[in-house]
Amino acid sequence: MSKKDYYDILGVGRGADDREIKKAYRKLAMENHPDHNPNDPAAEERFKEASEAYEVLHDPEKRKVYDAYGHQGLSGQGYQGFGGLDEIFSHFGDFFGDILGGRGGRRGGGAAAGRNLGIEIGITFEEAAFGTSRKITVPRHQRCDTCEGTGCKPGSRPSQCRQCGGRGQVLHQQGFFTLSSTCPVCRGEGQIITDACKDCKGAGRERVEREVTVKIPAGVENGTRLRLRGEGELSTCGGPPGDLYVGLAVEASETFYREGPHLHLPIELSFVQVALGCTLRIPTLEGHYVLEVPAGTQPSAQITLRGKGIKDINSHGHGNLIVHVKVAIPSALTESQRSILEQFAHEGGIPLVPEAEEPEATPDAP
Ligand SMILES: [Zn+2]
Ligand SMILES: [Zn+2]
Repeated sequence: MSKKDYYDILGVGRGADDREIKKAYRKLAMENHPDHNPNDPAAEERFKEASEAYEVLHDPEKRKVYDAYGHQGLSGQGYQGFGGLDEIFSHFGDFFGDILGGRGGRRGGGAAAGRNLGIEIGITFEEAAFGTSRKITVPRHQRCDTCEGTGCKPGSRPSQCRQCGGRGQVLHQQGFFTLSSTCPVCRGEGQIITDACKDCKGAGRERVEREVTVKIPAGVENGTRLRLRGEGELSTCGGPPGDLYVGLAVEASETFYREGPHLHLPIELSFVQVALGCTLRIPTLEGHYVLEVPAGTQPSAQITLRGKGIKDINSHGHGNLIVHVKVAIPSALTESQRSILEQFAHEGGIPLVPEAEEPEATPDAP
């Protein structure tokens, strides 16, 4: 598949000047910017294409090569376009800061933010209900204190790159043109570290274990993810730090089961307790509660105690505690229990055997 023409992508003529090219790119980048088109791969593709076209056409050297030799000319020089969005953002950071109105965040200032970090912690059912706080240890990379991030041994300085004379770019001749590309020795920095800091081995960053206090609000659930802004990895190029996501694994309760802010409590009562009504102590999150079960409560009845559930994380209120009544029938009776119940049946006119006066149609004797 042949690559699209850069002029076509930007929709400008071959004679377009830098201002026209910039204007065309600006329009396309605005329309197709991933921040404005979340989850739209087609827009992302157009955004990448336009960025690549602009990258070449606004650079007089690259444009000359492209005009003369097309895409092949550029690939002959090792130009491969952009790998991904992050590369585009770090390349055109200022440009996007400009077109997106200098918003804060990852793309606003141009420099890419640090990576987000994720960690999972386990908490008890009660901690989820009432909230808690946890100290956790999170490894991340920080600026090396010894060299203050320079990567050089204290007292030393980076020296100028000899390959490029400190310009970060090297020139080479191709046909009639002098082309420049990133210096392979200093990777465009213009300087190299000759005496590296011992603590970070020249990286300017070191891995540290940090203690972070996570405040867990009341009402969180199993699977809730908390976001701690700025507690993620630091940016390598001056952008804001990433975020730390804390996933919560909440232990199940042996007493209750939970549905959002509501608690369910199954209880089993004897048929006598529901028939006569009774008073009993049931567990709640805040200790015992004296529950009145009214006489005549039916099997599968639900008794709702308003506000005795868990704090609703989305509001100021609390959920309910719903007591589910299950009725147990004894499977064995003593002699006297049996006679009491037979008397109960007799008084209530509850037949236990078919009545004698109205003989059922019994099968004919053979
Ligand atoms: Zn260091
Ligand atoms: Zn160099």
